[in-house]
Amino acid sequence: MYQTLYRKYRPRSFSEIVGQDIIVRTLKNSILNCKVAHAYLFIGPRGTGKTSTAKIFARAVNCLDNHEGDICANCIACDFSMHKDCLDIIEIDAASNNGVDEIRNLREKVALVPSELKYKVYIIDEVHMLTISAFNALLKTLEEPPEHVIFILATTDPQKVPETIISRCQCFNFSRIADLNIVNYLSMVCQKEKIDCEADVLEHIAVMSDGGMRDSISMLDKLSSYKNGKIVLEDFLTLNGLVTTKDLDNFLNLILESKVSLIIEMLENWNSKGKNIVQIMIQFLDFLKSELIEGYINNTVTNLSLLQELANLLNEKMFDIKKSSNPKIYIEIMLLNFVNQCKIISREIISSKTSKIDELNCDIIQNKHDSQEKSESFKNADHVSCDENSISEVKEKKSVIMENCSSKFSHSNINDIMEIRMNNAFISAKKEFLKEDKLKFNQLNDYTFDQNIGYLVCALLDGKIRLSSENYLVVSYEYDSVVLENLVNFQNMEKVLFDKLGMTKKLIIISDDKWSVYAKQYVDHLKNNEQYEYRKEPELMFDYGVSQGEENLNNENNDSVSSIFGDIVEMC
Ligand SMILES: [Zn+2]
Repeated sequence: MYQTLYRKYRPRSFSEIVGQDIIVRTLKNSILNCKVAHAYLFIGPRGTGKTSTAKIFARAVNCLDNHEGDICANCIACDFSMHKDCLDIIEIDAASNNGVDEIRNLREKVALVPSELKYKVYIIDEVHMLTISAFNALLKTLEEPPEHVIFILATTDPQKVPETIISRCQCFNFSRIADLNIVNYLSMVCQKEKIDCEADVLEHIAVMSDGGMRDSISMLDKLSSYKNGKIVLEDFLTLNGLVTTKDLDNFLNLILESKVSLIIEMLENWNSKGKNIVQIMIQFLDFLKSELIEGYINNTVTNLSLLQELANLLNEKMFDIKKSSNPKIYIEIMLLNFVNQCKIISREIISSKTSKIDELNCDIIQNKHDSQEKSESFKNADHVSCDENSISEVKEKKSVIMENCSSKFSHSNINDIMEIRMNNAFISAKKEFLKEDKLKFNQLNDYTFDQNIGYLVCALLDGKIRLSSENYLVVSYEYDSVVLENLVNFQNMEKVLFDKLGMTKKLIIISDDKWSVYAKQYVDHLKNNEQYEYRKEPELMFDYGVSQGEENLNNENNDSVSSIFGDIVEMC
């Protein structure tokens, strides 16, 4: 049977471990100097050699004729410990044996002397998966271990390991393996396995595996199965749903030239070809990094600061992109927002002749990354103490920019609409509406598996209904990425409310954080006896018969506000 390359090239002695030189040297020295601790904790990302090092250490510490701390591979002890069924090297996967019973069972066996070797070594992988009671049971053993026992705990997530455990272990941090080390190791594997592979493919594998040797060898294995002849970069890109550097270069140019529709088209094109959009963004970030380095060293790249901004944005949002259930839409909105911001800044720079406008620039520049805060920044901009003329100038510019924004997905536009709606919703919100709508929402559960609208129904049900007025309904979500996704669909979600519940309300989709801010503002307004004034929202592309009528401006209920908005007042 075919043995996967990863298993075949698993290190079997300290000398074969790649990229963890300091740890290896320390462990070898501890064996040489007879200073072996009774408990170790190996911390590090996946595929960096924690388990392999643990196994080798378990053998080396038992070797009868160690070579400068490494195994000899010839003595009886090495022979015993090489066998899978060696009774004295016990591997436990905490992910599947995480209960207190397993650890109690272990404690009972710990007391027994080793059957074949000098030390009994327990390797507990993914130790953070143990339950609290299992940790407590383990702690007792770690406190007073028998002389002949060594524990090696390994984890990718040290945050979840109790401090009491960590403090009783000698800790080693396994770092991500450097790309160069991975490339060299893969070249060696290629040579031995007679795999014909272009050098830049190996570099790409190293970047993609993010410092994990196991992943990189598995990737090479996959590639060699995919292609019989010489493996070229195109094969690597196809197999991983990635694109060429030329594609990335084109993509970057489209962004820098603010060609909105072509950006969307390119993403759509990648998506329809089954490319992996998230991986492409990681690739794009790496590409930007190279461009920046090139730019700083050789001074050959124009738009350096813009590249820097784009790289920062992508870097900041990468976690959200990976987490998003629809990364393509998230990326689209993020990039449109970026393009739009670039337009604003270039316009501001051209026309910023007065110091007051300069102040405004700072305001906008400071806020330019935070898409959620965008409409806020405009609001702040309006509050800058400018004279009447400059304020109207700013407003004029703002409307020109908004008009320029060709896509209905324009995030700033949606944000503006949501802000206006939020304002209007506060005018005639009532607790009775809230109760009524929460009840009505239950009926949506019947449609969660509907092929056409199921995803919209789920999006509605996932939100928290915060406030309801005659014509508006506020739904909030914990994560910004979810808000962004739902903002794209908010009109379809309104249609679902209309079709299935007969509701003719306009939706306001915001984050939990933003809701808290609005709720607090509302309470402040009430305290100061300030009234919300109705604001007209911009025309929408589609209208599903939702009432456009003005909210009831009669705001007599202010006195009983705390009873109406109990949940708001409690929050503050
Ligand atoms: Zn030996």
